[in-house]
Amino acid sequence: MVIARPVKGKHRSIKTRISYILFSIFFIFPFIKIGGKQSLFFDIPNRKFHVFGLTIWPQEFYFLHLLLIMAGVLLFLITALYGRLWCGYACPQTLFTEVYNLVGRLIGGKKFGKRSETISIKIRVNIAWFLISIFFSLFFITYFKGLDETWLALINYDFYEKDGSFQTWIIFLAAFTFTAFGNMAWFREDMCRLVCPYGRFQTALLDSHSPIVYYDKVRGEPRRQKGEKEGKGDCTSCNMCIAVCPTGIDIKDGLQVGCIACGLCVDACTIEMQKHNKITLNDYRTIEQIDNTNAKRHYIRPRTIVYGSFLTVLITIFSYFLIIRTNLYAFSVRDSSIYQMLIPNYGVQNGYYINVGNKTDFSLKVKIELDSKSNPIKILNLEPFYEIDPGGYMKIRLILLYESKEKSFADKKLIPIKFSVIDINNKNNKNIFKSVFSFPGE
Ligand code: SF4
Ligand code: SF4
Repeated sequence: MVIARPVKGKHRSIKTRISYILFSIFFIFPFIKIGGKQSLFFDIPNRKFHVFGLTIWPQEFYFLHLLLIMAGVLLFLITALYGRLWCGYACPQTLFTEVYNLVGRLIGGKKFGKRSETISIKIRVNIAWFLISIFFSLFFITYFKGLDETWLALINYDFYEKDGSFQTWIIFLAAFTFTAFGNMAWFREDMCRLVCPYGRFQTALLDSHSPIVYYDKVRGEPRRQKGEKEGKGDCTSCNMCIAVCPTGIDIKDGLQVGCIACGLCVDACTIEMQKHNKITLNDYRTIEQIDNTNAKRHYIRPRTIVYGSFLTVLITIFSYFLIIRTNLYAFSVRDSSIYQMLIPNYGVQNGYYINVGNKTDFSLKVKIELDSKSNPIKILNLEPFYEIDPGGYMKIRLILLYESKEKSFADKKLIPIKFSVIDINNKNNKNIFKSVFSFPGE
């Protein structure tokens, strides 16, 4: 397992600031409540996702799909424009690796990760890593169980089902903890080098104008050999670029899948070259700039236009769905027990179940209106309003009557009808849906 050496420099300090921001977001979101709900809360048992005040119901999972596709396309665009920015600066694997190394250094000091590291340091570091794995996993769980509920379960030792088995969240907590610990204490850089499919296809997203981290062979080679005081090239073979690399690769061997473009080898070489009044041999460059240092970076090019346009279309669709979204959902189902009942000298009755859902966290009073082009149709058992519980659902049975003293309705055709379910306190919050009224013999 690679334990990278710490290094100071421009990229290190950018990475540190980004880490602070992203970890703050990770820890703060569960504490922020919007409309009484945790700002980001994936309530899987109730199949509802709360995303910054928007409650996504199972019928609306297209919002989530759209968000995921948008995030994917945004990543494509950023990769084409700025290279593997995500991997090097924002990927949880990268961020967590740095935290675990920091803990290791706090315990083991300069011996951490080196051959001189004692068994005692190793044991203490691994115990600390295991404990912070539990801590991170607990916070991760709060996004699915809720912060308040997780806290209550913890202080009340609410870990077991009635039959003595572990509750599901404890099983997940154990699974996340062991995954995090195994990943950080054993697997680490192999995740980037061997497993992460994203790393592989990110490489395919790069083109000759996307920046990569590059070792200047022309200046650097032939590098200094053992025993030489001065090499012919500028590279002093200090190997600090390898020592600070979180994936343990040698950038001097050229671009590799394992390079997450974190820029730490740039910082290391900057320090080394400053000792010789030279500029770094490792730096971010586009493939064009490798051949011609003066080549300009082009941000507007076919692939960035395609990704950008696709992203714009997705944002437009998402915004449209968000604007037309109502806090009610409703649909009707025909009642098969009163499908098209003929009552002599009275008319024909059709039954319907109107299913109304309240997507808000407060109760809603709704009324139902019928819109039919045929005047004789009316609702027999309509209440002035129906109260739907917060996040609740109501099945309302309605009987419609086509009033007529005719004996036969064989010549009658289906009559299209429209139901409107309207929030009494907000007339814009309504849901309109179509159905039909049918006659015996249809
Ligand atoms: S840090 Fe720079 S000088 Fe040192 S080995 Fe790497 S490329 Fe060569
Ligand atoms: S080679 Fe350099 S940029 Fe690439 S992962 Fe290693 S340290 Fe980061």
